[in-house]
Amino acid sequence: MFDTQIMIENLGEYTTTNNESQADTVVINSCTVTNGADTGVRQYVSKLKKDYPEIKIMFTGCGVDTEGKKLFEAGKLDFVFGHSEKTKISEFLSAPKAFISGDKEHIDTSVITGFEGKTKAFIKIQEGCDFSCSYCIIPSVRGHSRSIPARVVIRQIEKLYENGFEEFVFTGTNVGSYRDGEIDLAKLLLSIQKLGIAKRLRMGSVEPSQITEEFLEIVSGDIFAKQLHIAIQHSSNRILKAMSRQNRYEDDLALFEKLSSLGFAIGTDYIVGFPGESDEIWEEALKNIEAMPLTHIHPFIYSKRDHTEAATLKADVNGVTAKERLHTLNEIVKQKNYLFRKNLQSPLIIHIEESGKSGFDQYFNKVTFETKTDKKWVTTTEYEVLAEQTLLRGEP
Ligand code: SF4
Repeated sequence: MFDTQIMIENLGEYTTTNNESQADTVVINSCTVTNGADTGVRQYVSKLKKDYPEIKIMFTGCGVDTEGKKLFEAGKLDFVFGHSEKTKISEFLSAPKAFISGDKEHIDTSVITGFEGKTKAFIKIQEGCDFSCSYCIIPSVRGHSRSIPARVVIRQIEKLYENGFEEFVFTGTNVGSYRDGEIDLAKLLLSIQKLGIAKRLRMGSVEPSQITEEFLEIVSGDIFAKQLHIAIQHSSNRILKAMSRQNRYEDDLALFEKLSSLGFAIGTDYIVGFPGESDEIWEEALKNIEAMPLTHIHPFIYSKRDHTEAATLKADVNGVTAKERLHTLNEIVKQKNYLFRKNLQSPLIIHIEESGKSGFDQYFNKVTFETKTDKKWVTTTEYEVLAEQTLLRGEP
């Protein structure tokens, strides 16, 4: 989202449309995290070529050196450019065919002015990853971990605050590895908190192995959302080892219990159906998940990614079983989320979305309203907890 916004703000005299039939050029900001993402982009390019043969197709994002290269060599793309080149987009729009891979060690220092139609501002603070999870292609397409200088992050927040943004979400490929000289993630967050200009700060996904005491102390401050998304990916140590993950179940459980005692809602990412996830391992993993005080989960089914270490492992969990496991996980965490919301003692502080019909509370739970409102924030104890959502009756 941040990268797309950088391109939008560097368009010069060009304007945007979301409708291909009105466009002279389509810019594809690609993702290459799964083989499925590559297939999706190939299909989209073929459809574009068929429906709008005259349209110019430009391609950027994580897929530049993989799918982008193949499609360019096959004559299906007009212009390909790497992440580091995106501020030059207005030049590229009128340039002849070219393939510019870009610099994988580049760090963006662009300051953007807004996010069209959004209430939250997504601030990229870091890029790349030095971990080597066996299933993941990201380190080889996004490069090593490097951080946006703290002074640029601060300037970015000040700019967006001036333009009306009050909630900031910190994102990156591996945000826990943030470092600008002596400034690590905890210190960066502290200096942002000291600006005193945001109504809510929220962390994007963090790796469990990178959570420090200092970080926990800072994110426990009132200005931070009372929710953390900590990507454990699995709850059996045998699978975590096969995934070459740095986290282990016992440590994750201890961390989550501590966060829960501090009142945090806790979300995670989880991969089901990884090679070797036998019935016995799944049973253990499930028992472990049941013991965790989770409130949100983003599970997905493992899919082989070419050119990763795990791609050589035999995929031995069939699709139907993987889907059932995914469903089971979702149901367990849905129930945990319901109980969490039901047992809340504190008022909800809701940041209302663009529609005026719903918003997100400090625990990252969606709250829907019976009546539309123009307000931006609401604090209330008058709400009803339903199985799937929290509902605010009457005028917010
Ligand atoms: S930490 Fe995340 S981005 Fe880095 S290798 Fe593992 S899954 Fe990929």
